[in-house]
Amino acid sequence: MTVSPRIPHVVIIGGGIAGLSTAYYLQKEAEEARRPVSYRLVEGTGRLGGKICTDHVEGFIIEGGPDSFLAQKPWAAQLARELGLGDRLMGTNDERHSVFVLQKGRLVPLPDGVMLIVPTKFMPFVLSPLISPLGKLRMAMDLFIPPRRDGRDETLADFIRRRLGSEALDKIAEPLMSGIHNAESDRQSILATFPRFRALEERYGSLIRGMLAARRHRPPSPSNGRAASVFLTLRGGMAELVNALERALDPAALIVGRRAEAITYEPSSTPPYRVHLADGEVLAADAVVLAVPAYVAASLVAHWAPDLAAGLETIRYVSTGTLSLAYRQEEIEHPLDGFGFVIPKSEGRRINACTWTSIKFAHRAPEGHVLLRVFFGGSRRPEMMELPDDALRRVVQEELREIMGITAQPVLTRIYRWHRANPQYDVGHLDRVARLEALCPPGLHLTGSAYRGVGIPDCVRQGQEAARAVMRELIGGGDQ
Ligand SMILES: Cc1cc2nc3c(=O)[nH]c(=O)nc-3n(C[C@H](O)[C@H](O)[C@H](O)COP(=O)(O)OP(=O)(O)OC[C@H]3O[C@@H](n4cnc5c(N)ncnc54)[C@H](O)[C@@H]3O)c2cc1C
Repeated sequence: MTVSPRIPHVVIIGGGIAGLSTAYYLQKEAEEARRPVSYRLVEGTGRLGGKICTDHVEGFIIEGGPDSFLAQKPWAAQLARELGLGDRLMGTNDERHSVFVLQKGRLVPLPDGVMLIVPTKFMPFVLSPLISPLGKLRMAMDLFIPPRRDGRDETLADFIRRRLGSEALDKIAEPLMSGIHNAESDRQSILATFPRFRALEERYGSLIRGMLAARRHRPPSPSNGRAASVFLTLRGGMAELVNALERALDPAALIVGRRAEAITYEPSSTPPYRVHLADGEVLAADAVVLAVPAYVAASLVAHWAPDLAAGLETIRYVSTGTLSLAYRQEEIEHPLDGFGFVIPKSEGRRINACTWTSIKFAHRAPEGHVLLRVFFGGSRRPEMMELPDDALRRVVQEELREIMGITAQPVLTRIYRWHRANPQYDVGHLDRVARLEALCPPGLHLTGSAYRGVGIPDCVRQGQEAARAVMRELIGGGDQ
């Protein structure tokens, strides 16, 4: 193994959770390997965190982007613990864990025991009014339909229709996907978004049998014997993770509020990369990690890597927004007996979903108040993104009045618009990403939500993998 006498330089572009995780693990791996590596992280806006954005307003904790992450994917919780936030992690309020689906204008609970989209408890499912008797029979056919084991991709809609039937798709899968995940099930790749479903089908021959087995193996929480929470967050909001990462990083390495404009690549030069900032500064680098949206990555490399740029441009994005509303509790007659509701497309509403935030999580609203969060926009209702604030608030309040009977005026509202924010994993996504990675010259790395997982845990994992790949390339270390 040859060791360069020069300290290698790495530039990470993008200060969202993927870029911050890359920086953190790079610093950690270099320290552990006792191999000095110098890095800079460039963030174009004036704050770190990207889509993670928590506001503390008058005693409310308001999330503009993600409010929690899946506990089953361990990387985000592991990172939080490493950063000393172990005792700040908290689960959802599982006493009122129902999720409702709007059906003909009424909120109907998803039957207890439905895990993601698959029923795992017999009686609640049989008794549920959400699915018709024929629809239930069709879902139960999953136990007998031969599994598909050819490894080929298909849309989530095709997969659900094939295994569980159209009603399960329309009433459960589609609203959950588009209401919460902002994904269109008739374009969404099953292998890129829910590989677990296909793995369960292959292993158990049936989705229901597979989910039942998974349920049996779910670990109980050690302290109280109850099942561990499916979602985790941090007591003071998701930004705690960003703030702890910032504290753990070398302050001199952070370049915040300055946008990267272009990258140049000269393979015969040492180092081969130059990152040009919009204000004219140029950073030389042996390796560059692109932790920005795919279309930004495309613009940065377009003039010397046209094929890579064209491929990056094919990753489709949709725009979404959230509107949080705070009310005096005494003015809300609705029992708020769950985490919120999702809305099937067929209901034709102007909002996509609503989380009853202060029920789902403790500490989100001061005593005597409730906090709700409405999701809007996406591919279903793109025009909602363009409404002026007043009109948007009016529409959302009308929807909440018709759906939940809320006539009170909110004491506080906050609007967050996320333009071209949600990458869509259309069928064939994983092959597309593998082709893009193969087009990157040595030292150039793609990471973040555009590629191999949109959730916070997957972004943390991808940052960790990018850091290890950089270490391997630069000093031959980082394998574990
Ligand atoms: C409304 C909403 C709700 C969500 N809810 C959840 C949830 O509950 N749970 C969950 O797990 N996930 C959720 N997600 C998804 C998750 O938040 C994102 O996938 C994740 O935060 C993306 O992280 P990232 O680092 O890949 O990208 P980003 O967070 O987009 O970070 C990219 C960074 O790059 C910067 N940048 C862009 N261009 C440049 C440039 N030229 N130079 C320098 N910097 C640049 C940007 O300013 C940004 O800070 C949600 C997303 C949204 C929008």
